Amino acid sequence: MSLQINVLAYFQLDQEQRALRVGLDAAERRQAATLKKAAQIKQEQHELAALLMTTKAKERNVEVSADALAVKINDLREKMNNTKTNKEYQGLLVDTGTLQKQKEAADEEGLALLAKVEEIEAKITETATRAAEQAKIVEMAQKEVLAARAELGDRLEQTLSKRDLAGKIIPAKVMEVYNKLAERLDGEVVAGVDVQNAKRHEYTCDGCSISLPRQTINALLNQPDAPTVCVSCGRLLVMSQGLREGLLEGK
Ligand SMILES: [Zn+2]
Repeated sequence: MSLQINVLAYFQLDQEQRALRVGLDAAERRQAATLKKAAQIKQEQHELAALLMTTKAKERNVEVSADALAVKINDLREKMNNTKTNKEYQGLLVDTGTLQKQKEAADEEGLALLAKVEEIEAKITETATRAAEQAKIVEMAQKEVLAARAELGDRLEQTLSKRDLAGKIIPAKVMEVYNKLAERLDGEVVAGVDVQNAKRHEYTCDGCSISLPRQTINALLNQPDAPTVCVSCGRLLVMSQGLREGLLEGK
């Protein structure tokens, strides 16, 4: 068997496994996307939990210092009640005023932090709802992947092993070309030769419809064991047995 025939056999099995994989590939891509989103939500949850902890700690600190200020203010008031001189009284009054202002500021800050805590808690609840919804979506996507795999059964594996077996008789260098082309052309690696006008020797690539030069046709005909590519699209060309025989007879 010539290289052309071997490449064609490999290509047909490769196309077959690609067609089999379409549903599974799509389901796997969807599943990956749902998992990515779930991970993003989880990250948000981590960040919110950390923010809640630090905000609560800040709020507690502010509360503690407000309480300490209240104690100090009470002490000063107590002292004011027991002062003997007006000067001492006035001094304590100023001090109390200063502490009062500090306490008011601390109370305000405490309230603002409490509001922030509530805001974060609301976000945490909302994110938990989204996480639960996303978990359901992930589960559905997972089921779709399993269903796609079940539907394939062992057909995919059988085709893959047949394809790989067919690949073993193709030289490694040609396989390298094949695989690069497969990546670039999404699997559309092999093209046939269309006859436009046999009398005038007009042939085209059935992959890209470009006219094939005489030397390409000659190479396909005379060197069936060397890879011949289309000058335009780069696909590996395969000449059908019928055309080959026809051309050889005509010679
Ligand atoms: Zn072409």
